[in-house]
Amino acid sequence: MSGGRLVFTGRRLGTLAETAIRAHLLCVTIRPETWLQPRPEGLYCAPGDFFIDPLRAVHRAVITHGHADHARPGHDKVLASAETIAIMKARMGEERAGASMQALAPGEILRIGEVDLRLVPAGHVLGSCQVGMGHRGSRGVGSRDYKRREDPTCPAVEPVPCHTFLTEATFGLPVFRHPVPDAEIRKLLDSVALFPERSHVIGVYGLGKCQRLIALLRRAGYDRPIHLHGALAAMCELYVAHGIDLGELRPATVARKDDLVGAIVLAPPSAIADRWSRRLADPVTGLASGWMRVRQRAKSRGVELPLVLSDHADWDELLATVEDVAAPEIWITHGNEEALIHALTEKGRKARALRLIGYGDDLDES
Ligand SMILES: [Zn+2]
Ligand SMILES: [Zn+2]
Repeated sequence: MSGGRLVFTGRRLGTLAETAIRAHLLCVTIRPETWLQPRPEGLYCAPGDFFIDPLRAVHRAVITHGHADHARPGHDKVLASAETIAIMKARMGEERAGASMQALAPGEILRIGEVDLRLVPAGHVLGSCQVGMGHRGSRGVGSRDYKRREDPTCPAVEPVPCHTFLTEATFGLPVFRHPVPDAEIRKLLDSVALFPERSHVIGVYGLGKCQRLIALLRRAGYDRPIHLHGALAAMCELYVAHGIDLGELRPATVARKDDLVGAIVLAPPSAIADRWSRRLADPVTGLASGWMRVRQRAKSRGVELPLVLSDHADWDELLATVEDVAAPEIWITHGNEEALIHALTEKGRKARALRLIGYGDDLDES
């Protein structure tokens, strides 16, 4: 927060009981499209005069999480969770992260113009939130990226009953059913045990996937040092500073080749096949991503050990969440929307594709 000022002029209203929100569902007064509008800059909330995860610099932006397709530089005023603000500053520098930034704690409600806004955990990465908005009895929830699978590095997603639910659909096809995360961790540990003379270099996205993989390995009992490519160090430090225990981490670049025999080395996905990884001891190359479900993708990138570990909802998670929020109207922001629209229409829901362009472009983030 800049100087303790509220950069989003508004009143904090305290926590509203879930029952009150459910009661709201019974008295819809206005259509969602009159106040939530897809615009070239991104999704605009007219009565609050702010954008959610805008694609270009705007006057007022509410940011759901720190991934580059959602958190962009140069906004005048930014409202986000404290963790997301810390991530934005770390990734872009204080200057570019936003002229003035305000943190909103989960559960706290802020009145902005004619909108009651609150941030609700999305279970995607550290600090990730959904944006809950209430306007004249109509409730909308902008979920953006989320998942329901367990993640020791961030609070679980909280489905919020609403009239209009905005969801992503990165894995919006019935073929996408992510395996249990612990099974993928077991796959990695089994390979490490099977090839003790080789190192395992695993491609992981730097914000979220990297720290989640480490935390899952620790939970599975792996207590040896984990080596990091230099590009991953700063974000791991930020997670640790926010109370996420990642165990002993060592820089891979200064390690002697002998130290890396039998070691797990994490690197950005782009580094696993390049010159950088050739200095490792006969590496087994892996990649952790929801897209590793598609064999061809693993093959084309020379991945020997595909780990299907995603920070996005799979097909079943998308449907379960829509069920939980009980929204009669679903707006799909980006991703594979056609099959999801079909499935939702069959369930009597009104589903619509917003086709917001510019999100989910970085496949390795998934
Ligand atoms: Zn994301
Ligand atoms: Zn995204």
